[in-house]
Amino acid sequence: MEQTLLTPRVGFIIISEPYPDENYLNYCGTMENAPSSCIVCGSRDRELLMERDPWRIYQCTSCGLGALDPRPTGEELKELYTRDYFASQYDEGAEPGSVEFKKWLSLLEHRVRFFRKENACGRLLDVGCGNGYFMALCRSKGYDVQGIDVSTWAATYATKTLGLTVHIGQIDDVDLLGDQFDIITMWHLLEHTRNPRHVLEKVKGWLEGDGILAVEVPNYEGRDARVYWEDWIGWQFPFHFFHFTPTCLRRLLTDCGFHLVKAKDYHSETVKRALKRIPVASIFARRIAKFYSGHSIAVLAELRKDTGA
Ligand SMILES: [Zn+2]
Repeated sequence: MEQTLLTPRVGFIIISEPYPDENYLNYCGTMENAPSSCIVCGSRDRELLMERDPWRIYQCTSCGLGALDPRPTGEELKELYTRDYFASQYDEGAEPGSVEFKKWLSLLEHRVRFFRKENACGRLLDVGCGNGYFMALCRSKGYDVQGIDVSTWAATYATKTLGLTVHIGQIDDVDLLGDQFDIITMWHLLEHTRNPRHVLEKVKGWLEGDGILAVEVPNYEGRDARVYWEDWIGWQFPFHFFHFTPTCLRRLLTDCGFHLVKAKDYHSETVKRALKRIPVASIFARRIAKFYSGHSIAVLAELRKDTGA
């Protein structure tokens, strides 16, 4: 099978890069079990969804959420999110103003377009900000930005080189001293967390009453996952603790007091690439691929007024 790497954080294709989780397949740090009941629907019934020795992902038979079990402990995560991990997701940190830097910002433009119509200015918090390219892009468009990330290395680049404000730590450790935000973004963050429900409850407290939340996660029901399956990059052992479908992501957000404003289904890279090989069809490859679910889904949500939040 052709090896394709769909970089989760930016959603474009890199070909012929090493599969980033190969280094972690034999990881043997301290482990813990996933929650005994589904964090979306509460069911205890599950079945094996995906196995790639020594890792197993179980699917809730009620709502479809996938959960890695067992998984590294919270302490182990600090060891896992090293410079190597972030360098595999982005790069070593481009020089501001360089061609490479501009390229990264350009690749992230689509994320700003996703919420700009709903909120064209204001205070923005990027949870899981990595080395801050997205924050830098938002700052250039007039947003007042802050970020949170678990990686000291990534946060140091964002603060020292880009002059951004980044709070270092997992979301439960961070105290924003009463700050409120008009926009909170979580691009490929929720699937990394130990309990996405707790994360959504926490960010709810940081959102202004008329604020918006943007969430993007891999979609294991998408065509790209189904085609590549065992080799699908979205599994990201052992970094991704949860695996969403569009249905269970929406259900979790609704349960946590959010109202869905809009959703985005990324087009299938698998279909696009197949059509590109056919001379006539290649002209329409991108348009046709939009009819097939791709690697990720994104949703924009606001606080429901009846929650009193
Ligand atoms: Zn469930």
